[in-house]
Amino acid sequence: MTGLVYKSTGSWYTVKTQLGETFQCRIKGKFRIKGIKSTNPIAVGDLVDFELEKVNDVESGIIHNIHDRKNNIVRKSVNLSKQTHIIASNLDQVFLLITINNPPTLTSFIDRFLVTAEAYSIKTVLIFNKIDAYDEETMLEAKYLAHVYRKIGYECIGVSAKTGENVEKVKALMKDKVSMFSGHSGVGKSTLVNYIQPDLNLKTKEISNLHMQGQHTTTFAEMYDTDFGGKIIDTPGIKGFGVVDMDKEEVGDYFPEIFALKQDCKFNNCLHVQEPKCAVKAALDNDEIAFSRYRSYLQILEGEDEHYRTDNWDK
Ligand code: GDP
Ligand code: ZN
Repeated sequence: MTGLVYKSTGSWYTVKTQLGETFQCRIKGKFRIKGIKSTNPIAVGDLVDFELEKVNDVESGIIHNIHDRKNNIVRKSVNLSKQTHIIASNLDQVFLLITINNPPTLTSFIDRFLVTAEAYSIKTVLIFNKIDAYDEETMLEAKYLAHVYRKIGYECIGVSAKTGENVEKVKALMKDKVSMFSGHSGVGKSTLVNYIQPDLNLKTKEISNLHMQGQHTTTFAEMYDTDFGGKIIDTPGIKGFGVVDMDKEEVGDYFPEIFALKQDCKFNNCLHVQEPKCAVKAALDNDEIAFSRYRSYLQILEGEDEHYRTDNWDK
């Protein structure tokens, strides 16, 4: 039998078949997947093959194969073993929720997030939430940002999780896909998910209580079905993708506007910093590339933005 992993508690996996049957499954003995060194061999989102087994009249499944992953998001363990923990796999898209203020989402944060998503090959849609509460100035800023990101290929939608404005657009994108919602604490992820699928009843929290959130709570990712044919992966306590190690030469490849110009630079190993005849710097001078994006690029290049790493943004 074949099914999708909806939930994992470490030793047991909740697996759902295409017919909608749910089985509790586990792994027997040593189970290693070549090339992957992680603390958990199987993650939420994995497609697995399993055999049913009956012990004392209780039926459960034994997983014996895992299908190749399209992508996965990981967390590095903090101890010295340097092992990774796979949070979820096979995501079709992530919705990055952005608020202009309450709480503010900085472009350096957005850009770091997008670079990581590009490195993981996960499509990102930018959601500007709380538009019901924007004043004129906030609206202008949101529109400017949406312009910057649309220009380089990211879909941007202004929504209100409170009034439901434009939430239908988000639902339309979610149909038949596996989606995750990310963004700073307080941007409205739970409110939006609850609006989309009310019976999920994710906990929302008042802004004033944000600092009360535990930083070290261990939580498990879980996948949920929506009633319009899309799946949501909820990763409580984990709001980002973790960190991808990349070489300096690689960083520009994850900025679509820099990647597009790279072949026009004089030097093929151009880092677009001080080199002569650099197409990226020329585009920056002509305002074809947003300064905030270039600044984020330099920060990532120099490793100066530890503060904005998506794996510790709530600390
Ligand atoms: P999360 O930490 O991202 O899950 O954020 P929550 O969903 O818990 O929302 C944080 C706060 O923002 C709550 O007080 C929500 O009521 C509020 N909020 C969420 N979405 C909206 C919105 O679209 N408009 C307004 N005005 N407030 C919102
Ligand atoms: Zn260059």
